[in-house]
Amino acid sequence: MRLDGPPIFFVRGKGAWLFDADGNDYVDYLLGQGPAFLGHAPQPVVEAVEEACRRGMVYGAQHPLEAEAAELLCEVVGWPEMVRFGMTGTEMVQAALRLARAVTGRRRFVRFEGHYHGWLDNVLLAPEPGAAPGSAGQLPEALADAIVLPWNDLGAVASVLDEQGEDICAVLMEPMMLNAGAILPRPGYLDGVRDLCRRCGCLLVFDEVITGFRLAPGGAAERFGTTPDLAVYGKAMAGGWPVAALAGPALLMERFGTREVNHSGTFNGNVMAAAATVATLRILRDDPPYPRVEETGAKLMAGLGELAAERSLPLRIQGLPAAFHVSFGEGEEVIDLRSLRTRDTERYRRLALRLIGAGIWVATRGIWYVSAAHGQHELEATLERAAGALAQA
Ligand code: PMP
Repeated sequence: MRLDGPPIFFVRGKGAWLFDADGNDYVDYLLGQGPAFLGHAPQPVVEAVEEACRRGMVYGAQHPLEAEAAELLCEVVGWPEMVRFGMTGTEMVQAALRLARAVTGRRRFVRFEGHYHGWLDNVLLAPEPGAAPGSAGQLPEALADAIVLPWNDLGAVASVLDEQGEDICAVLMEPMMLNAGAILPRPGYLDGVRDLCRRCGCLLVFDEVITGFRLAPGGAAERFGTTPDLAVYGKAMAGGWPVAALAGPALLMERFGTREVNHSGTFNGNVMAAAATVATLRILRDDPPYPRVEETGAKLMAGLGELAAERSLPLRIQGLPAAFHVSFGEGEEVIDLRSLRTRDTERYRRLALRLIGAGIWVATRGIWYVSAAHGQHELEATLERAAGALAQA
């Protein structure tokens, strides 16, 4: 067990497994914070990137693979007509906000407690409920345009849009709250916000950086049946390669194309990023892993639940099979950041460190991601390893 030992250095990842410098293996449920949805080093993506970079890595101009990646993204997701590529979720959230301001002529936006939209000054919040900045060195005044509300509370959105709608360009949210807990939208919530945005004339922006390509080919929008005006993608869209995108209807997105709205970046749409996106999206379209991921994830959630029940541990496992959250505490379901903060996070952190010591790579904040590479073998190894760790929890 390496609970308080030196940091773990990984030297290799393959499929659902990570290998450290000391020769230990881990079943991976963090997946690089989400991108390795096809498992680590998926062969078709690796080959596509290798082949692409031999043809030059960055052209600073259009190329056919970039167009193919954009077309595939629109096809797989379903509702968007145009795409901008960037490198990180952080920057594409900024592109979405800039476009929303340009389109509406308004400057403020609504966002939610517990939702993460990147590390820049205008979006980074402290982990507690409220609107405090999250970092030393951050300009606190940069947060002034954000109106921070509790999520899953339609009335809260309605009253802010009623009162201040003329100043609000967008409502920005994770359509399933995954950066704090794994909290599903209440029935009718997403559609309700959608209608309120229409009435107010502001844009609904889904930050699908985690949910995109994970919950369904079309992400949370497809899974929950609510189409936003704009959506940001990243993580799972390129099998682990760093790339992100903003997608939406031509009517909005063409403002970038005319250069009325600036979005720049030396490496945007670079050759490897486009190749990795095409290779990944082809797999998601032609051999969709979703039923498999759902089945494995559901068995894992149930198996962990049984292990906890046998030991009378108050472990709550909630979310969806592809992304769920585990926490300690009796009582109510976690429905927002405030209820999440009533859980015994220190006890879970200790359990997570034991799981890591037993060869299960998880985040100490409770999130578990399942990939297309997890199967029966990984499931059995995980439950066997977790049994020992849970015995001491
Ligand atoms: N939005 C969400 C919902 C995220 O989870 C993240 C990253 N965890 C980001 C944006 C930022 O993406 P990146 O780390 O690629 O900048």
